Amino acid sequence: MEQHVAERIAPLGNNEESRFRLAIEASPTGILMVDQDGRIVLVNAQIEKVFGYDRSELIGQPVEQLLPLGWRGKSGVFRELPGDVASDLELYGRKHDGTEFPIEIGSNPLDTEEGRFVLSSVVDITERRRAEHALREKGAELERSNRELEQFAYAASHDLREPLRMVATYVTLLEREYGDKLGGEAHEYVRFAVEGATRLARLVTDLLEYARIGPKTVAFEPVDCNAALAEVLAGLRASIEQNEAVVASSALPTVLGDHSLLCQVFQNLIENGIKFRSKAAPRLEISAERAGGEWHFHVTDNGLGIESRFHARIFELFQRLHTKDSYPGTGMGLALCKKVVERHGGRIWVASKLGQGSVFSFSLRASRDHSKAHS
Ligand code: ADP
Repeated sequence: MEQHVAERIAPLGNNEESRFRLAIEASPTGILMVDQDGRIVLVNAQIEKVFGYDRSELIGQPVEQLLPLGWRGKSGVFRELPGDVASDLELYGRKHDGTEFPIEIGSNPLDTEEGRFVLSSVVDITERRRAEHALREKGAELERSNRELEQFAYAASHDLREPLRMVATYVTLLEREYGDKLGGEAHEYVRFAVEGATRLARLVTDLLEYARIGPKTVAFEPVDCNAALAEVLAGLRASIEQNEAVVASSALPTVLGDHSLLCQVFQNLIENGIKFRSKAAPRLEISAERAGGEWHFHVTDNGLGIESRFHARIFELFQRLHTKDSYPGTGMGLALCKKVVERHGGRIWVASKLGQGSVFSFSLRASRDHSKAHS
């Protein structure tokens, strides 16, 4: 390429002007100059390459030669400054062989003794357009498949509930009505069947709740987190008393979000803090601190703690570190918390060591009007 350029700019002197000419000639951007009558007076090597013309075929010709047929005479492209050309116009160039391709143009006026010229830089953006298009397609596809998956989970869990209820009801009836006729291990089998059906019903209900949280289900309104927490703690009173748990909280802020979904997050984290307790009575603390444009909430417990290699995994659907016999649960609580927090534009994470308690934290965007913590 350098060889080609050097040949065209002869002689290559040492002075500033020839250096400028060389720079324009060798520029990776197409450069084009048009006079007042719209005739091309200068092109560089890149213009020749992009449009497929030799410069001798362009110099002195109307600049419209480089535009799609339908635009000729209509637009001021290349002849006027960007402000004069409709800014929402998607611009196209036309090659020697008639192919049209998307271009991006930047223009500047050049006022000289011979009058006004317009100097334009021209970039072929075919590749960029193609990449943008592919990205848009991928995004739309992803959204479509996510929506389908959520609809499927919703429909499946909804439709499974009724037959499951029937199984549990009729097996229980069987035991009640014909219990005295059943012999041997039959009572135990019935108990297993009822337990299995009840557990499946619980899973299905949790899954339904999880699938329900779509982007449109989040109602953004001011939520006083102190009130939300008080509501949650009232609901958990029996479990708190039973476990002799102590739950303390500092002043929490009001945030923009969905009251009942945020209550679910507090509830799941507090329930876990009580459920995965160590031998000592559970002590929980709920606090919040401002971190830039966000609030960080923390639920701290003195429970079993979690090895760091499981920290990411526990937020996935159905992932549990404990068996259902030692600690009841479906493994959906933290997945639900994650989904709710992410639907609010936040993140959720845990800091914990085995045997040393856990701190579950989540961030929520601070709203300007409701940014102060209050008790
Ligand atoms: P579930 O409570 O139904 O088991 P979760 O999704 O809420 O489901 O939690 C997933 C797993 O993470 C739990 O089974 C448990 O092993 C672990 N875990 C959650 N919270 C705590 C906690 N506060 N302390 C120790 N382990 C926890």
